[in-house]
Amino acid sequence: LTILGIESSCDDTAAAVLRREPDGDTQILSSVVVGQEALHRDFGGVVPEIAARAHAVKLDGCVVDALSEAGVSLSDIDAIAVTAGPGLIGGVLSGVMLAKGLSAGLGRPLIGVNHLAGHALTPRLTDGLPYPYLMLLASGGHCQFLIVRGPDSFSRLGGTIDDAPGEAFDKTARLLALPQPGGPAVEEAALSGNPERFALPRPLLDRPGCDMSFSGLKTALLRQRDQLVEAEGGLRQSDRADICASFQAAVCDVLTVKARRALKTYLNESPAEPAFAIAGGVSANQTIRASLKALCAEHDVRFTAPPLRLCTDNAAMIAYAGMEQFIAGHRDDMTLTARPRWPLDRSVAPLIGSGK
Ligand code: ATP
Ligand code: FE
Repeated sequence: LTILGIESSCDDTAAAVLRREPDGDTQILSSVVVGQEALHRDFGGVVPEIAARAHAVKLDGCVVDALSEAGVSLSDIDAIAVTAGPGLIGGVLSGVMLAKGLSAGLGRPLIGVNHLAGHALTPRLTDGLPYPYLMLLASGGHCQFLIVRGPDSFSRLGGTIDDAPGEAFDKTARLLALPQPGGPAVEEAALSGNPERFALPRPLLDRPGCDMSFSGLKTALLRQRDQLVEAEGGLRQSDRADICASFQAAVCDVLTVKARRALKTYLNESPAEPAFAIAGGVSANQTIRASLKALCAEHDVRFTAPPLRLCTDNAAMIAYAGMEQFIAGHRDDMTLTARPRWPLDRSVAPLIGSGK
């Protein structure tokens, strides 16, 4: 089974070819990702209209490159998997339209994939995790704990009620005039910092459940920064490092405390081979990774984190999720719609414009 995956829901245009052998062995034959960072840099964030245009321009070439890198032609493709949401609607539409065209032209099945399902199923592609496993998806746009039960079956245990942690890293970097994306810059600055110098809030820890909040951190940091600037006439290198370290420690604490609760709920189900996976750009953070790894070791739970190129947005994960869903009998047709919102644990998704 050879499957083409297409992804265009945010600011990466991507196409990939995956092949599954009859024995179940699955190989990524190609995974092409064209980023748009340079296009959005001057605006301090992704501009939806610019992203949509860039996807429309780049998608065809991405697919051609993915096919040629994989050494296959269009006629070798058995099915087409495409991100149908959630995401920036213009970009998602570009991908869905292209996938529909290919599906109709080639007479091959079409599978609309939830972008988050792509992230959530990646540990099966990389580590062959058996269902059910616990997942923390922490990125620039999302943060949630999921029990992944099957290719189309997810239980959401909780998530952020405001900002995503990656977004918080990015805002912190902006506040301190560090480069974007903020995650790597803040992590590096934190290396030489004192994580206990500033007492930053750990919101919602006293509340039961796995919901989290990261937006208050930004306000607290802003206050600290302004106080320092006033007292010292500017920020010293060591102040920056201490702020970054204190911020990172706060995020890490919140994720770890909530992960402990999520793990408890998950382990209550007595999974045969318990496993915990993290994905999303924030999973690149070594402090967070080490803390969650230690938590898993404490509970005798297998811990995995897919390699970063498969954690951040890519089309191999969409092809993989599409493949599992295809094998499970899932098919879409020309009525497939692009969805700006598409919660993972509800199988019937709202249509464009119908809000949450
Ligand atoms: P989504 O996939 O949810 O729509 P996204 O595409 O922005 O969002 P990713 O590409 O998975 O998310 O991750 C990017 C985010 O990860 C950025 O916010 C970035 O700051 C953060 N990030 C990257 N590396 C690190 C790191 N080492 N530490 C913390 N955060 C990091
Ligand atoms: Fe993503």
